[in-house]
Amino acid sequence: MTLAAPAQRVWEAALGRLQIQVPRPTYDTWLRGTEGQSFDDDRLVVATPSPFVAEWLQGRMLGLISEAVASVTGRSTAVALAVVDTPSSSVSSTPHTMRSVPKVMHPMVEPGPVASDRVLNPRYTLSSFVVGQSNRLAYAAAAAVADGHAFSYNPLFIHGAVGLGKTHLLHAIGHQARALGRSVRYATSEQFTNEFTAAIRDRRMANFQAQYRSIDVLLLDDIQFLAGKEGTQEAFFHTFNVLHSADRQIVVAADRPSSALTPFDERLRSRLDWGLTVDISAPDLETRVAILQHRARLAPVAVPLEVIHLLAEPPCKGVRELEAALNRVTALSHFTDAPVTLELVNQAIPSRPPAADTLAPEAVIARVGKYYNVPVTTLTGPLRSRQISHARQVAMFLLRRGGMHPGQIGIIFGGRDRTTVAYAIDRVSARIVHDADLQATIHSFTN
Ligand code: ADP
Ligand code: MG
Repeated sequence: MTLAAPAQRVWEAALGRLQIQVPRPTYDTWLRGTEGQSFDDDRLVVATPSPFVAEWLQGRMLGLISEAVASVTGRSTAVALAVVDTPSSSVSSTPHTMRSVPKVMHPMVEPGPVASDRVLNPRYTLSSFVVGQSNRLAYAAAAAVADGHAFSYNPLFIHGAVGLGKTHLLHAIGHQARALGRSVRYATSEQFTNEFTAAIRDRRMANFQAQYRSIDVLLLDDIQFLAGKEGTQEAFFHTFNVLHSADRQIVVAADRPSSALTPFDERLRSRLDWGLTVDISAPDLETRVAILQHRARLAPVAVPLEVIHLLAEPPCKGVRELEAALNRVTALSHFTDAPVTLELVNQAIPSRPPAADTLAPEAVIARVGKYYNVPVTTLTGPLRSRQISHARQVAMFLLRRGGMHPGQIGIIFGGRDRTTVAYAIDRVSARIVHDADLQATIHSFTN
């Protein structure tokens, strides 16, 4: 039995408790505007206005929320966070402001191998996928098969390391294909295995086969999980053959190329390469910055370019890591009601090598001067030729990275005001993204 009214009552009471437990800005940003959606004996579903909020609450506050709910219901109650399914949710600039809740809800799907059901994550769409050199081909191929124009890309086999967007693309294909009226089935290989095993156990093999063979698009994620599972591989092999010969689209993702799938049925392995194989590699700096900018637009606080840039730099490599770092920073900003700054990044991610450079400011300026062949007094003086301005901006950028405030930097550079300094730093931050030489130069100063 699922009743909306008790869900609202339980959740409102829990909110009352949470309101006195968490700081006001946190409550206003993340909890205000959530609603009790359904409640049965041991499970409360809470509606959140955006995937960003759902993810944040899931990652940061689930413990506290569960305790609050348990103290209302008087027993241990599972809390599930759901996302309102609005077409514009991925582009909304104010995701933390509650919109009226439509009736259609999707449970939040946790990314990764533990995805508990086959619902497609509403956040994983083609339009929310940031395209760069490292994933351009995979994206183009995904878009083509999603539109149904690319039967020669059958199967489409996408491989790449964890956290680089394979599952995102699979879900995106699913959304698009469904929107075009085609029937889609998404499964992780783990789910496929479990269903196959259950079908054998319960003698429902015909049912299992019918489910997988009657569809237009099959999306099978993390196929490396089938390694060594002969029976399941065989089941997939037959499913593959049936779908392929009926010109139904098959898309498979793995964390490694087919040649590295072992132990694996040879026939199945070779079929994976029948159509089009594309790999996704780690995003370059420019793509990392673009991804962070895209995500930052969904964040409830403003994230300045210099912070985006710092987060995009190594050691962060995978997209998931980038997102996690950004979430930590924006969350801390909210908790402490402080603006997002380089200092805040160091606080939020203490394990990161500090942005600070160990050199004294004079030494930084001297090194930059030497590199660009500009005397220190000129660098800190008023002259503004192109070469001098450029060197000066780089020096300011490095000092800022070293933790110095724009006001202080301005004083060192002949009494320039802080907005001039901030502007110079932004220029370097913006340029560095496209300019490999500048990247190398900055790198040589910071190492
Ligand atoms: P994988 O399946 O390859 O391990 P995921 O698809 O789960 O990786 O991606 C991890 C996270 O990074 C997801 O939140 C996903 O939306 C995000 N992501 C990955 N690549 C991109 C991209 N190019 N643009 C936007 N978000 C991305
Ligand atoms: Mg995945």
